[in-house]
Amino acid sequence: MATKQDVFKILQRIKYLPNSPIDEKNVDQIVEMFFVILKDLPFDLLDQATLFYLGQDTPFFPMPGKIRSKALELQMISLKIPTPSEAWGMVLNRNTMQPGAICSISFRLREEIQTLIGGEYMLKIKELSAHESECEVCAPTVFRDSYAHPMVARTIHLLGGLNAVLSDNPVADRARFIQAYSELLDRETAIVGMVPSVRDYIEQQEKRLLEDRQQAFETGERQQINRQWKMLAEGLSR
Ligand SMILES: [Zn+2]
Repeated sequence: MATKQDVFKILQRIKYLPNSPIDEKNVDQIVEMFFVILKDLPFDLLDQATLFYLGQDTPFFPMPGKIRSKALELQMISLKIPTPSEAWGMVLNRNTMQPGAICSISFRLREEIQTLIGGEYMLKIKELSAHESECEVCAPTVFRDSYAHPMVARTIHLLGGLNAVLSDNPVADRARFIQAYSELLDRETAIVGMVPSVRDYIEQQEKRLLEDRQQAFETGERQQINRQWKMLAEGLSR
């Protein structure tokens, strides 16, 4: 949290910019005005945001809200949120291979299978698939829709899924996706702006994103994988 002393330091960086209203008489009032808007943000962030503002092509003395929005912009960058065009690229490059995992039991069963023929072979295949449907470690190699950032996945979800997003008109698809993504991005920025401590927010957000990913895996995907393996095993034993 910034103190009035911190805000004073920030003002030292910008006080000679054109249109600066600061003089010896009103400096306390201006510190107060900036303090009200910026006090919930940490000094390091405000200082970086001020430098960020100074480094851009906007030479005039800023309103406190401008420094605040630069601070939020920095936070979005630190969250590695893709730009709308990048996000669309992630939609187009979504199919990535999820490498499988094999535990030591599965490895042993697979070794054994290679030495067997006929009925014994089939039994061992069944044993392997039964194991892999139960095992927490084993997972087959699959292709699935995987986006490089959770916000891309969320936009696709909000638009009603990938089938609703992709049509035979890629130009329209791109425009619609980018609009929806930009709206979501604006909302996220507003949420970050509202919370008192952006640092807390980021920690919570990162934790939540991790949990979301974990949950998605535990529920839908795992079950689907298990079903596929069961179907495969049933097909083989017939
Ligand atoms: Zn296993």
